[in-house]
Amino acid sequence: MNNARLPVAVFSFVFVILTAVQLILNSPPLLLLERFVDGGGWIEIIIISFYGAFIAFKMQNPKNSPKWRRLSWTLFSIVFFSQMIIGLLGAGNFLMTGKLHLPVPLMIISGPLYRGHLSVMTILFLSTVILTGPAWCSQLCYFGVWDNILSDKSTATKPIKNKAAIKTMGLLIVIIITLLLRFLQVPLKIATLVAIAFGLGGMAVIIFVSRKKGYMAHCLLYCPIGTIVNYLKLLNPFRIYIDKDCTMCMRCTTVCKYDALNLIDLKNRKPGPTCTYCGDCISACKDNYIRYRFFNLQPETARKLYLFLTVSIHAVFLALARI
Ligand code: SF4
Ligand code: SF4
Repeated sequence: MNNARLPVAVFSFVFVILTAVQLILNSPPLLLLERFVDGGGWIEIIIISFYGAFIAFKMQNPKNSPKWRRLSWTLFSIVFFSQMIIGLLGAGNFLMTGKLHLPVPLMIISGPLYRGHLSVMTILFLSTVILTGPAWCSQLCYFGVWDNILSDKSTATKPIKNKAAIKTMGLLIVIIITLLLRFLQVPLKIATLVAIAFGLGGMAVIIFVSRKKGYMAHCLLYCPIGTIVNYLKLLNPFRIYIDKDCTMCMRCTTVCKYDALNLIDLKNRKPGPTCTYCGDCISACKDNYIRYRFFNLQPETARKLYLFLTVSIHAVFLALARI
C-alpha cells in the first residue's frame, strides 16, 4: 500500500518552502535553530522535511492514518505551547516577535475585528482553508487537538440537536461583542481579559462536556473558528462522499468525533457540514465506501493529494508556528 511518491513529494515541498523562508525572511530568522546557531536553520529544514515525509508515509495507509494524524497533531500543539511557555519564562528567542498574542483560536476573527486590520494569523488561517478546506480543525489548530483527545470514546453518539443554530448564534455573539468592544473603545487590557475568559471557558467545555459526551463539543459548538471553517471549507474543491453501495452498517459512525456521520448523513451519501475531512471514518469502513473527491481524480489519488497538502502544511507550521 505504501509507496515512496507521496513522502518524496512532501519532503520536496516542505524543503522548498522552508528554504525560501530561510533565505528571504531571515531578520530575525523565523527558523528556531538559526536563532541559536549560524546555519542551524538548514539543519532544521532537513529534519522537518524528513519529519513531513515520515508522517505522509505513515498516513498514506488509511488504517494507520487516524493514529498518525492524532500523534502529529498532538506533537504540533505540544511544540507550539512549549515554545510559548519557554519564551514567556524569559527565552525570547522562542517567541516569534516577542509580542504576545493570545493563543486562543477566537483571536483569528476577534483580533482583526477589534483592531480593524487583518493579522498574520488570520491570513495564515484563510490561506490554509483555501488550500486544504477544513484541515485547520483536524490537524493544524494548536487548540482543537485537546478536544479531540478528551472526547475519545469509541461509541456512536447521538446527533447533536440544533447544532447549526447553536453554532451560528455563538459566532454572531462573538462578532457582536467584539464590535461593541471596539466601538465603545474598551481598553485593550479589558478586551484581552474577555478573550482570556473565553479561552478558559473553552477549556472547561473540553474537560467537562467533550469528555462526557464523546464528541468534540468545544470545536463543534463553542469555537467560532470551527463554525467559520464549516462554511469557508466549501471554497475548496475537496469533498468526502459515501458510495451508493454503502450498506449502512453504521461502523463508521462510531469513529467520527465531529458529529458528521449519522444515519441521515449516510442516507444523504455525504458527511454532515461539520466534517473536517479528517479521514478517520475511511479506515472504519471495511468495504472502502467512504472516499475523497477532487474533480474527476480517482478517489485514492484525491486522498493522496489531500494528504500531500495537509501534511506539508502541518510540517511547515511545525517549523514556523510560534507566538
Ligand atoms: S474548532 Fe476552533 S479549537 Fe477546534 S480545531 Fe477548529 S479552530 Fe481549533
Ligand atoms: S465524517 Fe469522516 S472525515 Fe468527516 S469528520 Fe467524521 S470521521 Fe472525519
